[in-house]
Amino acid sequence: MRRAAMCTLLCLGLLVAAASMASEEPPPEALSSDSGRFVAANAEFTLLHEMGHLLIAELQLPVLGREEDAADQLGFISLFLSYGHQHNAGFYATLLDIADYWRLEWQRVKPDYEEVYPWASHGLDAQRFYNLACLIYGSNPDQLEWVPKVTGLPVERALYCDQEYTQVSKALAWVERQHGRRPGQAVSHRIRVIYDPPALHQGQDGYLLEQLRRSGRIEAIAARASEAYRLPRDLVLRLSSCGAPDAWYSRTGGELVLCYERLAHFQTLAAQLPHLRQANLLR
Ligand SMILES: [Zn+2]
Repeated sequence: MRRAAMCTLLCLGLLVAAASMASEEPPPEALSSDSGRFVAANAEFTLLHEMGHLLIAELQLPVLGREEDAADQLGFISLFLSYGHQHNAGFYATLLDIADYWRLEWQRVKPDYEEVYPWASHGLDAQRFYNLACLIYGSNPDQLEWVPKVTGLPVERALYCDQEYTQVSKALAWVERQHGRRPGQAVSHRIRVIYDPPALHQGQDGYLLEQLRRSGRIEAIAARASEAYRLPRDLVLRLSSCGAPDAWYSRTGGELVLCYERLAHFQTLAAQLPHLRQANLLR
């Protein structure tokens, strides 16, 4: 116990010394606030989180710990790797957008029925924010010394984020080895994208949807998963009006649903982003 406490103090001391020498500043674009980018980034992360549930169910992946945490990790690493080696300021802006969504949810005053309680299957909004901030930082701590600074990720957690990132990327590599499509092997089954007619096809909702459709990102996510894994059956990725800003994967129907209302919700929260970013810079 005593040795562990000494090590912790020593490790913290070393990290603080390293941080004081750090000169790495965030690229300005990484902290810019762009409503369209925020909506697109979070729509994509939502889909990839649900795709995590889809893979867990369809490939019968073993899950240790909470499935919701595993889905966030699968969503993050899939998004991260989909950018290849293009780790420019725009890439980090996208990653910060998905972490900051959870910080905005954390700070939002919610009605009781939207509140996330400690007994819920999902982590608390604040935990999901710090988990994502840790994975971003842990992907390259030497180059991303500015991430703990702009996210407020405490040094006690930051110290081990490289190990967390490595665990998550090793987990995905295992899934790909066990369930990935072999070179030359035919695509077994596909994920078909269906756009239901929106119930509120007017104003910003219609515009957001049109932007997302035109980007082709949703079709790209469905195609990538169909081609990367040996799926056991054909599945559906459906965009629909649900009456709430929700998203889910239904094992019974083999259907992943992203509600149009969730896009509108992202846009509403995006209006708070400049204030959040400004407040963090002044901290
Ligand atoms: Zn989930």
